[in-house]
Order: sequence, then structure tokens, then C-alpha cells
Amino acid sequence: MIPDLIAQARKIIIKIGSNTLADMDGRINLTLLEDFAAQMGELVRERKQVIVVSSGAQVAGLSIMDKWARKRDIHYRQALCAVGQVELMGAWQRAFAPQGLRIAQILLTRDDFGDPIRTLNMRNTLFTLVDEGIIPIINENDTVSVEEIKIGDNDTLAAQSAVLWSADLLILFSDIDGLYDKNPKEYPGAELVAEIRDIDEAQKRIVIGDANRFGTGGIVTKLDAARRVLPYGVPVIIANGGRPGALQALAAGTQRGTACLP
Ligand code: ADP
Repeated sequence: MIPDLIAQARKIIIKIGSNTLADMDGRINLTLLEDFAAQMGELVRERKQVIVVSSGAQVAGLSIMDKWARKRDIHYRQALCAVGQVELMGAWQRAFAPQGLRIAQILLTRDDFGDPIRTLNMRNTLFTLVDEGIIPIINENDTVSVEEIKIGDNDTLAAQSAVLWSADLLILFSDIDGLYDKNPKEYPGAELVAEIRDIDEAQKRIVIGDANRFGTGGIVTKLDAARRVLPYGVPVIIANGGRPGALQALAAGTQRGTACLP
């Protein structure tokens, strides 16, 4: 099923979570970014279109401003993201350069999705960039997103962007192989759910545990993202992005994941 979904999709949104992007020391894993960029380059050469939703600004910020690590104040956290966002985009730029691909930064807030003029501008910009062969990299604009108006997690941001861009497929890369009947980090015997057709029914059947380290949403926001895009006919793949060649392995059917189908 997953290989078919990837083969059939022309417009693919790929979201990569903080836990996936950060290495053991809490730094952006450049090797992994380069590997992702190479695989996305392959998709582009197959005449597919790709948009990336990338978390990791805070992680990147912390690796530079480690003296701010204990600051809980919202303004420090926003400042940390502002510093880290530059670092993150620099890393993506270097990762895509060997593919001959340019990137573009798109920072969005919840308000942007509620305003028809803004959504039209966002849509047109995304279409223009992608048509010109540029890879847009979307993240939440933390500087203006105080807690009350935050989208709050990039699974939701990716889902909203998928609908806005009329994507054919949304891939949510995490540090976990997919949705399990219970959190595999707490229950070693947990079983992967390969296919979901009814999100509500699936959510009733499974036990949801906590997110980890840098994660903000956990598995709930991934299911919510699926709930948001499935009515538009956009399937969702939840998969592990932590191993090299993950995208190609999914496309080849050698890596498992969870497919949420409309
Ligand atoms: P990301 O930052 O990649 O979006 P999160 O850390 O927010 O990821 O969420 C993924 C985490 O959710 C997994 O690493 C896992 O520990 C946890 N989790 C809890 N319950 C489940 C479950 N039933 N199936 C899969 N993962 C689960």
C-alpha cells in the first residue's frame, strides 16, 4: 500500500519532527538532513513536487545559545527559535546544494490560515516556488505565535499546508515506525498498525503514551493531522525518518509504516 501511495502521488508534503532531526547530543543531525535532501532530490528528478515542513528551530537554537537552556520565559524561547531558525535553514540549504536545489523559507502562524487573503497569498507563493523547482521549507513563525495563537505542532501545520497546497500525499516522519496499538517505548510487545481507514475507531483501539524529548504533539497530533486531510482525499503515511534512505525504503516497500487512507 505505502509504495503505491508514493508512486501515485505527484505533490508530496514531508514533515520531519524535532526528535528525528536532532541527534543524541541535541544537535541538528546534518548527515540525516543531507540524506533527506538526496532522497527528495530523487523525487524531484522523477518529476514529483516536494514541500518540507521542518521542526528543529529550538533544537538548533539551543545548540548555539546553550546558556539559554534553562530560560523558561516565553520571550527567551521565541528568541531561541529566531536564532535557531537561521541555523536550521542554513543546514537545509547546505543539504540541498549538492542536489542543485534551492530552498525557500516560509514561516506561518495560525492566523494566516484563517484569513482568506493570506491563504491565497500563501497558496500562490507555494505554487510559484514549486513550479520553479524550489523546495519550500515551512515552519511555524514562533516570533509572533504566543501560546494562545500557536498552531503548536508541526503535524497540524503540515496538515493545514497539505490542504492549502492541494497535496496528493502527506508523510509524517517521526522517530517511530508508525502508529502502534500501544507506545512501543513503554511496551516492547506493541504491534504496528499498518493501515487505518477510520481515525476515530483507530484512536479508540490504541493506547497513546507520551511524546518524547523535543516532541510537542506525540501520536495524537499525527492522528489529528490525518483527520484534517483525509476528507480532502489526501492519504497520510506515518513512518520512521531516523534511518538513512527512509523515503526510498518506504517507496520500495522495505520499510514499514502506517498508512491512513481516505
Ligand atoms: P515528532 O517530534 O517526531 O513529531 P513526537 O515525539 O511528538 O514525534 O511523537 C512520537 C512519539 O509518540 C513516539 O516516539 C512514541 O514514543 C510516542 N507514542 C505514544 N504512544 C504511541 C503509540 N500508540 N504509537 C506510536 N507512538 C506512540
